Amino acid sequence: MAPKIFLTGATGYLGGDILFALNKAHPDYEISALVRNSEKGAPVAAAFPKTRLVYGGLDDSQLIEDEAARADIVIHTADASDHKGAAEAIARGIAKGHSKENPGFWLHISGTGILTWDDSRTETYGEPPYTKPYDDLERVSDLTNLPDDAFHRDVDKVVLEAASDVVKTAIICPPTIYGEGRGPGNKRSRQVYVLVESTLKNGQAPQLGRGLTEWDNVNVHDLSDLFVLATEAAVKNKSDVDDKLWGKEGYYLAENGHHVWGEISKLVGKTAFEKGYIKEKEAKAMDVEEAKKVAGFEALSWGLNSKGFAKRARKYLGWSPKGTSLEEEIPNIVEGEAKRLAQTTFITPAEVNLAMKLNMDSSFENPAVYLSGPGQASIKESPLPNITDSHSVHFWKHGGIINKVSEANPLIMGHEASGVVHSIGSAVTTLKVGDRVAIEPGRPCRRCKPCKAGRYNLCPSMKFAADPPDSHGTLRKFYEIPEDFCYVLPPDMGLDEGVLVEPTAVAVHACRLAEVKVGIDVVIFGAGTVGLLCAAVAKAMGARKVVSVDVNESRLEFARGFASTDTFLPGSGDTAGTIATQLNTAYFTKGADLVLEATGVESCIGAGIQVLKRGGTYVQVGLGKQRIQFPIVSLSEKEINMKGCFRYNAGDYDLALHLLGGGKVRVKDLITSVKVFEDVTEAWETTARGEGIKTLIRVGGV
Ligand SMILES: [Zn+2]
Repeated sequence: MAPKIFLTGATGYLGGDILFALNKAHPDYEISALVRNSEKGAPVAAAFPKTRLVYGGLDDSQLIEDEAARADIVIHTADASDHKGAAEAIARGIAKGHSKENPGFWLHISGTGILTWDDSRTETYGEPPYTKPYDDLERVSDLTNLPDDAFHRDVDKVVLEAASDVVKTAIICPPTIYGEGRGPGNKRSRQVYVLVESTLKNGQAPQLGRGLTEWDNVNVHDLSDLFVLATEAAVKNKSDVDDKLWGKEGYYLAENGHHVWGEISKLVGKTAFEKGYIKEKEAKAMDVEEAKKVAGFEALSWGLNSKGFAKRARKYLGWSPKGTSLEEEIPNIVEGEAKRLAQTTFITPAEVNLAMKLNMDSSFENPAVYLSGPGQASIKESPLPNITDSHSVHFWKHGGIINKVSEANPLIMGHEASGVVHSIGSAVTTLKVGDRVAIEPGRPCRRCKPCKAGRYNLCPSMKFAADPPDSHGTLRKFYEIPEDFCYVLPPDMGLDEGVLVEPTAVAVHACRLAEVKVGIDVVIFGAGTVGLLCAAVAKAMGARKVVSVDVNESRLEFARGFASTDTFLPGSGDTAGTIATQLNTAYFTKGADLVLEATGVESCIGAGIQVLKRGGTYVQVGLGKQRIQFPIVSLSEKEINMKGCFRYNAGDYDLALHLLGGGKVRVKDLITSVKVFEDVTEAWETTARGEGIKTLIRVGGV
């Protein structure tokens, strides 16, 4: 009868590779694989049709117990070193289904993180080893008697205590594993891969402390060979070496080489540099906190010692590893990680504290603020963006938006955004990972007549952020955008100021349409963000007098300090005519040269036309009601140049950034407060109540 194997972790990196190797060596073995659901099982069934799928998770103790009872050999790889419940279920199952005459075998994976207990206790990172390397042959009892506070030790103990004539156990303890997995699921290992990923993302290889720690390594193909040999030994159940293979002495290290982590960092840096992925060849030494920030808890292993010699498998299983070395594999790992990262261009808006918070609970990969109705905003998971092209706090009370969103069709909000480049597509040449950028939040088709004529803001196929029904906004952790719609911020400009490049570009567009010239007199209706920025931009372009009009005196007070030379507060009974008359009496003799109307309110539009001098220019910047009445005869008689204005166009972002960078427009003054992501509702409410000018929301981590 063919041996029955029960395997956990078939879609994982090591479990998948073991499944591959076992199938290749013994196509006749009857293998059952624990998979979480049919979706997870599909690739396993496709690659290994003979495999019997068992649906369940590590917490399904009864199921695991039953399968362990039925199997001749259990190969436990799924979270094996840390999931105590699953180990206990396996122990019970094997004991139940087997006898001294017909023992069950258990190949259990631990991890050489268990050897780092000494450094972990003293929180020593990056220092050379000061204890003797372990030896799984002559001093195997050191390994089976490690202290209780060592990583994985609690589960090791479950296995060691289960060992008997009925339950024959082998704990296999792999070090750093490398090489491409051949399984149906995850083909990528961790430690070195995360180090390479971090190098490519941050432009420099990380090194923990002095980088002198030593660790063992093994090629995944060699490691799978070890499992095949151990499985074969279980099938043969040879009595002469029984006590050497299983139970008290059945503890295996599985190295085929050793590395110094700092040397690996150096090699990764050099390789990535030579391949042109990064500009800094030398590794960057960092303390444990910084390392955790760049690469998470995986980074800790780079700073700990874990060294031993794998003699047992060589002696009693005839294991003779022949795969490529870690050092030989580094160029492949660098290429592979670069390729993987190139599949996505992510932008992450900035925040540190919140990122830590979100990472801690790790429930969302890409949290986003969805609006599903008036006043109904919530933070939910949104899909991680993918690169499809290799080149590549606003108000929820916007009438147009809330009419088009619903529970069924919620929309991610936000179109004013800055961020840090998280990864770039393979064809991207003008940006690198880590660049801080302002984001232009619309994607024109690039093909239509307006696009070709350089007026892409008029593109009928424009996909603009937070434009219902299906063009989602920027208020989330990761956002993907073509490189030519990113604008690198000057070194001394904050991401908070970067957010305000967007509304500044609106003002720049209006002022360019209006052809603002040196010495002209301007009236601006509205002293909200756009009105204020119009005032500042008009001033920067040379306007002589800038009069801001608003019904809110506190805004006008702010306007006087920010950019306007004068302000005007209309009374409650004022009509278009009386507003115009009062403005002219107070500030102009023959009328203003230019009106920028940023309210969309009928009386302001009327007043704007009436306050203009003959031949003056009027630009409608704000949006209001669909239909309004205004003095069209006056418009004709004065031959007023009236223009519509929509968002911004080629060159507007560049000029906006220039004005901000040069200090000509001080957007920092506009920022009332910066809220964290979770306080998004409060941020909106503050703004809706008319308190302050701009409330920013921070998302994600840098
Ligand atoms: Zn177009």
